[in-house]
Amino acid sequence: MPRMPTIDNNLPKIVTRVDGLDSLERLVISRVMLVEIEHYCVSDPLVETCGLIGGMGEIAHTFYPTKNIANDPQHGYLVDPEDQISAFRTMAQRREEMLGIVHSHPNSGAQPSATDLAQAAYPGVAYLIVSLRDDAVLSEAYLFTGRNFEKLALEVVDLPKC
Ligand SMILES: [Zn+2]
Repeated sequence: MPRMPTIDNNLPKIVTRVDGLDSLERLVISRVMLVEIEHYCVSDPLVETCGLIGGMGEIAHTFYPTKNIANDPQHGYLVDPEDQISAFRTMAQRREEMLGIVHSHPNSGAQPSATDLAQAAYPGVAYLIVSLRDDAVLSEAYLFTGRNFEKLALEVVDLPKC
């Protein structure tokens, strides 16, 4: 079991998927929500935009856009801690888990970078990467196992957003 990063005691309690590492084999997301996420990324195409996904089991329910406070947001992302705490609070109220972490790649493909692996901190969570490199936006999901990223099936369904 990978060691979890130290959690600030002031953070609201959040359920992550660390106890269910083997169970997440796909990320199910509504087309409406995926479009919402991709629009958010496209709205600021020169920097890596980021956000969080709350949901239950393998089903994404809510997208929480967050500010990227990285020193060099064109080449990395750091979720604003205040936005993160706010999202965690709402997830707890809605009984959601933190199912995913979203960020965009303005100039590269949808695969995790070496930096993404070095900075990944949430085993069992889906990392959704939105590539803006090509004319058509491409989103792919990866599971962080604690050691590496494994490709997740991204199942886009035509259901209304929950
Ligand atoms: Zn990245």
